[in-house]
Amino acid sequence: MQNPISVVTPKEKEEILTQFQDLVSGYCDKCGRPYNKKYINVIQKQDNVYVLHLMCEHCKANMLTYVIKSIGLSNKVQIYTDLSVDEMKNIAMSQPVKADDLLDICEIFEKDMKAEDFINMLTKPS
Ligand SMILES: [Zn+2]
Repeated sequence: MQNPISVVTPKEKEEILTQFQDLVSGYCDKCGRPYNKKYINVIQKQDNVYVLHLMCEHCKANMLTYVIKSIGLSNKVQIYTDLSVDEMKNIAMSQPVKADDLLDICEIFEKDMKAEDFINMLTKPS
């Protein structure tokens, strides 16, 4: 399976951030203060679509947004999240959930499993 995250060069990231700030806003929707570029990360790139995770350094609000580079379109999707950028990256890199995975989860809940065993099962490499 192909990794959904392509490498984003620092120059490319700078272009995307500039486009985002020109098209949308460089200000936090929650507290109105400016975003620090240090806390804006590209978490996924597919073709010309970039998904950005923004964290406001002032009020700690996390937000997701996207930028479509080639056609100069960007929009802030108001998804406030408590996930950190690293957690977002992990999710973006994870494999899609398959039907078999859901069946495994159903089996787990049918068993009387200890929390520790459950965590071990989830974290063991398949
Ligand atoms: Zn804020």
